[in-house]
Amino acid sequence: MQTEVLGQVIQAIPKAELHLHLEGAVPWGWVRQQSDEALPERPDWWDRDHRFESFGEFVSVMHPTWRPYLNQPEEISSAVSVLYGELRAQNVRYLEISFGLGAYVFPVSEVVRAIQEPAPSDLTVRVIAGISRDRDLETMVGLAGEAVGTDELDGIDLHGDESVGELWHFSDIYLAARERGMIVKAHAGELGGPELVQETLRVLRVNRIEHGISAIRDPDVVQVLKDQGTILDVCPWSNVKLKVVPDLKTHPIRTLYEAGVCVTVNTDDPTAFGQTLTDEYRWLVSEMGLGLADVGEIARNGWRAADVSEEVRAGFLDEIDCLLEG
Ligand SMILES: [Zn+2]
Repeated sequence: MQTEVLGQVIQAIPKAELHLHLEGAVPWGWVRQQSDEALPERPDWWDRDHRFESFGEFVSVMHPTWRPYLNQPEEISSAVSVLYGELRAQNVRYLEISFGLGAYVFPVSEVVRAIQEPAPSDLTVRVIAGISRDRDLETMVGLAGEAVGTDELDGIDLHGDESVGELWHFSDIYLAARERGMIVKAHAGELGGPELVQETLRVLRVNRIEHGISAIRDPDVVQVLKDQGTILDVCPWSNVKLKVVPDLKTHPIRTLYEAGVCVTVNTDDPTAFGQTLTDEYRWLVSEMGLGLADVGEIARNGWRAADVSEEVRAGFLDEIDCLLEG
């Protein structure tokens, strides 16, 4: 298929973005408008060859793009309304966006409302509270317990440095969230190894893992992912930029997909990495050598993971089928 036609089909696919952090997705154009400084049109860290040397460096580069500007619910609403425009331009129809629990001085219900309110009617937005495993444990467990009791919130995720903290501290919170029918997922297997992926499945009993790519290093863990039907919300370009993998060509998403693991493709922190979701889809073909049928299957996985009614899910799956047959 010609590149141009391929680009048109990828653009037209109704997409689900399942792994996006509010604090890593504040649109750069919006940041430039808020800042007193004359910021460049493209930050240096978007350069194709730029790499973040450590997770700490990534956090310190990101901090000035959101911390000074997201201090009121209205500011969050203003930023996400620009973000939603950018996502809709790529035909994203479903979004799971997480925010850092404890990062805002107003209640979780207000954070959720500020994120939900500007959502256009043709974009379903689910708001997820990110529990940091590397912050003060007692504070975080308290905040997470309160968050799980918040009606407006759709789900929880585990964020932060994978080498810090023990998972069992959060197992009761995950149990309560599951009992409330919330979306439950956790970051694992980005910087941590396959044993962390397996432990996360066992201790937190999630069916969604954010990243999870280190599972490729242990065939037994790959088998567990397949047996349990676990969904991995993978972000290939993020993994390259943070030096988790050397390049897109050798990224394990293809091997995981071909082994029968349910993978989705997402952007993680596009303000840091400079890519769009459409770029990630295009690279599945141009960099990883997958075919359009595979791209369609990975897009379908996004809808299989999405928290939507069966009717809505079936509608989008049909739409993808029609596009790929056309
Ligand atoms: Zn992430």
